[in-house]
Amino acid sequence: NKQVILKDYVNGFPKESNFDFKTNIVEFKVPGGSNSVLVKNLYLSCDPYMRMRMGKPDPSTAALAQAYAPGQPIFGYGVSRVIESGHPDYKKGDLLWGIVGWEEYSVITPMTHMHFKIQHTDVPLSYYAGLLGMPGMTAYAGFYEVCSPKKGETVYVSAASGAVGQLVGQFAKMMGCYVVGSAGTKEKVDLLKTKFGFDDAFNYKEEQDLSAALKRCFPKGIDIYFENVGGKMLDAVLLNMNPLGRIAVCGMISQYNLENQEGVHNLSNIIYKRIRIQGFVVLDFYDKYSNFLEFVLPCIKEGKITYVEDVADGLEKGPEALVGLFHGKNVGKQVVVIARE
Ligand code: NDP
Repeated sequence: NKQVILKDYVNGFPKESNFDFKTNIVEFKVPGGSNSVLVKNLYLSCDPYMRMRMGKPDPSTAALAQAYAPGQPIFGYGVSRVIESGHPDYKKGDLLWGIVGWEEYSVITPMTHMHFKIQHTDVPLSYYAGLLGMPGMTAYAGFYEVCSPKKGETVYVSAASGAVGQLVGQFAKMMGCYVVGSAGTKEKVDLLKTKFGFDDAFNYKEEQDLSAALKRCFPKGIDIYFENVGGKMLDAVLLNMNPLGRIAVCGMISQYNLENQEGVHNLSNIIYKRIRIQGFVVLDFYDKYSNFLEFVLPCIKEGKITYVEDVADGLEKGPEALVGLFHGKNVGKQVVVIARE
């Protein structure tokens, strides 16, 4: 059973050399009544929050993201098939998505809100690592529950071509909003405009003055900001927010690898523009997962929602794909395929 392990705690940007491979023996028998399930892992999801697990254990984030142990396999969201089951709700052949090891086979104890049985298989299975899994739920909960969107409002999404951002933009368009996204390459900016239907998009790496870029795209200001990156972008957005605007703080990827986080200077705008800033964590919304599926599955089948994935082939490519997130290497949702069935 090939596994990806963390060599030692990570400081700064994670590198491929922070990871190694090892092989262990898997016991292919799961005792009945043990509640354990042996799964074959098919797809792994590369997610920015995994950076939080790579550092030394931190009491302030431990409840949300338990640190990886050096020398042990890393873990994260994946899509898996049941090989043997000692759990009453799972039988051989069932598919599930949820937390598994970065390894070919895992023994897991399925848990509510950590593992979800896959009932609909008439869509690509890899979608359960993205659109129909954690990132999709993040976009759904973040946009509909946290942003309080209304038809006709202006919406800005950063890291807009990624796993979460591409969906937020499409949800906002479906609601009748004016939507602008930013991303770090021309290819991604083109995707935003041609594939995901954003009204406008810009490459933040090519803008000297982020606030001026936002002013150009939003001459009447921003009503909703879906925050994925933090840092200088948040500062520029604050200058361009409209009164009573909402900022849903989903992530701050520009800060995850810094020893000291950057300061944000324009916070006083929150007061006189009466801005509501709300952070959220997708885990708190998993009870709405079936509502999400009811909403999104027809959208996929009717072609109202499209999804771009970046698929790395083989567990050996996992570390490279994972660290690539922090350099914008992924175009769309970064997935690693270990096996297709
Ligand atoms: P993406 O698929 O968007 O991948 C990450 C992207 O972030 C990269 O491709 C890159 O795109 C961009 N990026 C990397 N470094 C920087 C930087 N320094 N400044 C600006 N952009 C950068 O990831 P996800 O869609 O999975 O996640 C997006 C955000 O949502 C993350 O912050 C993540 O932590 C957060 N998140 C939060 C959840 C929650 O429950 N609150 C759940 C899931 C995700 P580019 O080329 O455009 O720079």
